Amino acid sequence: MVICAACKKAEAEIRLDYAKRSLCRDCFTLFFERKVRNAVLKYHMFSVKDKVAVAVSGGKDSGALLAVLKRLFPRVEMVAVHLNLGIEGYSDGCEEIAKKIAKAYDIELIVCNLRKAYGFSISDFRKTRFSRKICASCGVVKRYLLNKTALEVDATKLATGHNLDDFVGVLFNHYVHGDVEQLKRLLPVNVSHNPKMVTRIKPLCEMTEKETRYYADCMGLPYKSHACPFVHQRRLEKRQRLLDKLSEVMPNFRHVFFKSHVKRLQPALQVEEEAVSVRECTRCGMPTSGEVCSFCKIVSTLTKRKRLEKF
Ligand SMILES: [Zn+2]
Ligand SMILES: [Zn+2]
Repeated sequence: MVICAACKKAEAEIRLDYAKRSLCRDCFTLFFERKVRNAVLKYHMFSVKDKVAVAVSGGKDSGALLAVLKRLFPRVEMVAVHLNLGIEGYSDGCEEIAKKIAKAYDIELIVCNLRKAYGFSISDFRKTRFSRKICASCGVVKRYLLNKTALEVDATKLATGHNLDDFVGVLFNHYVHGDVEQLKRLLPVNVSHNPKMVTRIKPLCEMTEKETRYYADCMGLPYKSHACPFVHQRRLEKRQRLLDKLSEVMPNFRHVFFKSHVKRLQPALQVEEEAVSVRECTRCGMPTSGEVCSFCKIVSTLTKRKRLEKF
């Protein structure tokens, strides 16, 4: 039996290779919550003056996020936001889970149903030119609607459940492709100076996938264990497997990569920022760099198609 490195009494249940320690359930919970609190404070994510909209998808990360934030900051005003993407055999189950978690933590839940509100669902992408980039298009839709819903409920911050593995996976990809513009935007906090954009925060950005899953289990949270049927699992998994390999040799690889990006490279990248001109979408009025925003382009393609189908 491995003894917990913190209390030296109970049996250890989780091994943290990067920290070279094993912890029992109770000590892990304390450890996890302390780390999330530190991240929130270190990156100035929010204060008691804020109203935080927490995006809850039905997955383990966003469930863990809602639970940990409510437990750590009970005095901060919070609202949970869920997007029902209308994917058959998947989305309704996700909505049920979001409802259960919000209820358990006594947080108001706002549901935005894509089909009811906009007349299309992510499944409709299959027959369009978006079909090959379904996840990227879904990402556009999610970012747009989470922001819009957060604005509608007067939230001042929008929290998402991205963990360290997600963050480093994206980071790695941008580095491989030399995507400097995307790298600039990859931060624990994306401060918005635009009244139509809510500042986005990632309170779990320093917690690994394993830690987040274990925390969700410790809290007894329900979550969807199988991924969205459209996810390009293979590419994402391949990337994470590659990073896992690196972590075998260097257990704190993700932590080091994250830290050097955020602490050393980001400040250098931000210097010539600011110049990007932000306009308003001519259709919906939301911020965009072009004339029509990506969301409106997607909506118009899908609705055009729907009109054609009626003939
Ligand atoms: Zn312990
Ligand atoms: Zn628009």
